[in-house]
Amino acid sequence: EAGRKLFAGDVDFVKGVVAISGLPPADRIEVCFAGRSNVGKSSLINALTGRKSLARTSNTPGRTQEINYFDVGGQLFLVDLPGYGYAEAPVNIVKQWQALLKAYLSGRVTLRRAFVLIDMRHGIKAVDAEIMDLLNKSAVTFQVVLTKADKISKTEQERTLKQVRETLQKHPAAFPEILVTSSEKGDGVATLRALIATMQ
Ligand code: GDP
Repeated sequence: EAGRKLFAGDVDFVKGVVAISGLPPADRIEVCFAGRSNVGKSSLINALTGRKSLARTSNTPGRTQEINYFDVGGQLFLVDLPGYGYAEAPVNIVKQWQALLKAYLSGRVTLRRAFVLIDMRHGIKAVDAEIMDLLNKSAVTFQVVLTKADKISKTEQERTLKQVRETLQKHPAAFPEILVTSSEKGDGVATLRALIATMQ
């Protein structure tokens, strides 16, 4: 209910940030979304906000290395971090992005939680584990959100859940509850919305 209320108002694209100096004023709390390219991050943000192409609109190729800020009802920032692990990304771009991410995660006092999206078919890969290490070092609480649950069977889902649970034990900054979602079917979306609403 609280989640529905929060997202019932306007959700607007604020800006794409390419340097730490460009971050909007830290005048409200925020949550960020991280994940490998193609994990389903745009789809989940669109499902959460009930807007068909909010995230995709801002995710034009030229903007992929930007940190995209969305304002939710004037109360909270939803922060879309650039997708990582894209095999063909040039080394200098990757380095630039890592530096920006480090600066962002270590210095943003209003950041309440990072949602790390993991494709439920694939589980946690090395690049995901790297991001989790960085979140740990930055003392940012993070929570795993499994995506595309509709693509696999319950048995396969259990296998991924087991792997994720085991990995999370090594990360003190990890929030133990794992969210299972499908943007396609809507599973877990209301739960995530409600969870975000509790962070205000
Ligand atoms: P992003 O690169 O992380 O922003 O990923 P997108 O949101 O663009 O999704 C990548 C692909 O996965 C697209 O073809 C989506 O339609 C598909 N996809 C995303 N979420 C889901 C889901 O929950 N279920 C299914 N079946 N496909 C999904």
